[in-house]
Amino acid sequence: MKIVDIRATPVTVPAEAPWRWSMGVETGTTRTIIELVTDEGITGIGETYGGARTIHGLETAKPFIVGLDPLETGTLQHRLGVFCIGYEQDVPPLVRAGIEMACLDAAGKALGRPVWSLLGGAVRERVEVAAYLFYRYRSEDGRVGGEDSPEAMVAHAEELVAKHGFRVLKLKGGVLPPDEEYRTLQLLHERFPASPLVWDPNAAWSVETTIRVGRRLLREGLELQYLEDPCNWLEGMSQARRAVEIPFATNMCLIAPEQLAPGIRMRSVDVILADVHFWGGFRADQKLAAVCEAFGLGLGMHSDRELGISTAAQVHLAAALPNLNYAIDSHYPDQADDIIADPWRFEDGHLRVPTAPGLGVEIDRDKLDRYHRYYEEHTEVNEFYDPYRPGWVPALPIF
Ligand SMILES: [Mg+2]
Repeated sequence: MKIVDIRATPVTVPAEAPWRWSMGVETGTTRTIIELVTDEGITGIGETYGGARTIHGLETAKPFIVGLDPLETGTLQHRLGVFCIGYEQDVPPLVRAGIEMACLDAAGKALGRPVWSLLGGAVRERVEVAAYLFYRYRSEDGRVGGEDSPEAMVAHAEELVAKHGFRVLKLKGGVLPPDEEYRTLQLLHERFPASPLVWDPNAAWSVETTIRVGRRLLREGLELQYLEDPCNWLEGMSQARRAVEIPFATNMCLIAPEQLAPGIRMRSVDVILADVHFWGGFRADQKLAAVCEAFGLGLGMHSDRELGISTAAQVHLAAALPNLNYAIDSHYPDQADDIIADPWRFEDGHLRVPTAPGLGVEIDRDKLDRYHRYYEEHTEVNEFYDPYRPGWVPALPIF
C-alpha cells in the first residue's frame, strides 16, 4: 500500500463556553483534519493543531510522503525530521504528528487492526480521564459557563462528576489570584474527599509565589497528585522544586526531546505529560515513555481541546503506554460539538479503548463541512488574548 495524496480541511468548532487560562481565553478549537489517500482505496484520518500554518506544513511535507507505505512511520519521521532542525520549522512536530496519525489509521484499516495493536499492544481496556475544571466566561446565550469563584467551580465539578463519573479533579489555574484558587481546591477536597487533586497554574506564578503556595499546601496537608507548571522554564521549576517536596509536572517547560536531558539533570519535574501532537506523534511519545521509565519519572497525558480524532489518538496511545500512571486530561466534556460520526462518551470517568481497525472513528462529512465554513467565516482561534479584558496582555508571571 502506498500513499498517493494528502488532503487537509481546517475547521473551527466554537466552545460550549469560553475557557480561561493564564495567557488568555480559548473561544473554540481550530484544527486541521487530515485525510491520507492510498492506492488501495483506503483513507486514513488524522487531526492536528492550527489552520493556515499547518496546511503550509502539509504542503511542504507532501513530496516526502507520497509513495511511502503508511505503516513505515519511522521512515516518515526520519524524512520529515530535517524540517525541525534549528531555525527550520516548516514541518513542525505538530504536523508530523497529524500525518503519522493518519498513516496508522490507514495501516490499521488495511491490516484489520486497531492502532494500539500497531503500537505494540494494549495494556488496558479503558483509559481513566480527569475532570478538567476551567474557570469559564458565560456562553453568549447565558446557559453555560460562568465559573468565576470557588463556589461556582465546586458546582461545576459536581455537574461533571455526576454526568461522567470522574474520580480525579484537575483545576486549570493561573486565572484567579493563587489564594482564591487555593480556596477552590480546599472546597473541592471538602466536597470530594476521596478525589485526587491536580492544580495547573500554567506558569502564572513566580518562583517566590510557587514556593509560598507550595509551603502552604504542605503546612496545611492539602495533598496534590502533582502541581503542574506552577512557574516558567526549567530553571524556575528547578529552583521552586528544590524548596517544596511536592511532585511537579509539566507540559510547558519540557515538551521536546532536546529538553529531556537538561530537565532531568536539573530535577525540574517529577512527571512529564505526553501529548499526541506536541512530541511529534505516537513513536515520539513512546520514546518519551521509555525515558520516563528509565529515569523513574511519572507519565501523564496533556490535553488541548482535542476533537474526536485526536481523542481517539489519545486513547490508543494511553492504552499502549504501560507506565502511564495518571488519569489523562481531556477537554472533551466541554466541547459543544465534534466532527466525528459517533462522539465519545465517558463510562465511570473512563474512555473505552476502540477495537475497530485503525483509530476506530469516522468523519461526519456534514459536520466537517459546517465547521470548515465556520473556520472560513471566523478564521483561527487565538487563545493568547482575552476579548473580555481589552488592553490586557498575557505577560508571565502574573502572580
Ligand atoms: Mg498544563
